[in-house]
Amino acid sequence: MLRIKPTYIVGHVTDINLEDLKKDSIKGLVFDLDNTIMPPKTGDYPEDILKWLEMVKNEFKIAILSNNPHKEYVQKAGEKAGCIAYEKAQKPRIKAAVQALKDLDLLPEQVVIIGDRPLTDILVGQRLGLTTVLVDPLITHDENQFISFLKMLERCFISSALKKFADNGNNNQNN
Ligand SMILES: [Mg+2]
Repeated sequence: MLRIKPTYIVGHVTDINLEDLKKDSIKGLVFDLDNTIMPPKTGDYPEDILKWLEMVKNEFKIAILSNNPHKEYVQKAGEKAGCIAYEKAQKPRIKAAVQALKDLDLLPEQVVIIGDRPLTDILVGQRLGLTTVLVDPLITHDENQFISFLKMLERCFISSALKKFADNGNNNQNN
């Protein structure tokens, strides 16, 4: 059975504890774009996130790994953040993520992937043995109801998996 268990769950990307990541010998952060660090279809980063990314870049390598197929849009987002960006990544397929690790020149155990979608962002990270961080989507309105419903199901699945895990009294989420 497919089990998706993010290493960490936070509300907002800027809530990520960089000190904890450093203690875990993390050297690189790979971000999903839409709804993780940028509201969809805006092309602009919220100011707090852009400032936070600047700070992150002082201590970590960063990259954007997006399933968004629009090359120009994703590349511009990469330019604005000052990092390499991959469009059409087809997460949870691993090919583009493997390329990102190669380009960052980091091993899976040195990288954390951060995203708002369990079945794409977290799953690809899990498949490659990365640390994973699930964030709340920046924007939840403005999507069609069917997509919203699917995302809600995804998150219920994660919550119940975590609850079951907690009920088992096991604190090691890597099992
Ligand atoms: Mg996303």
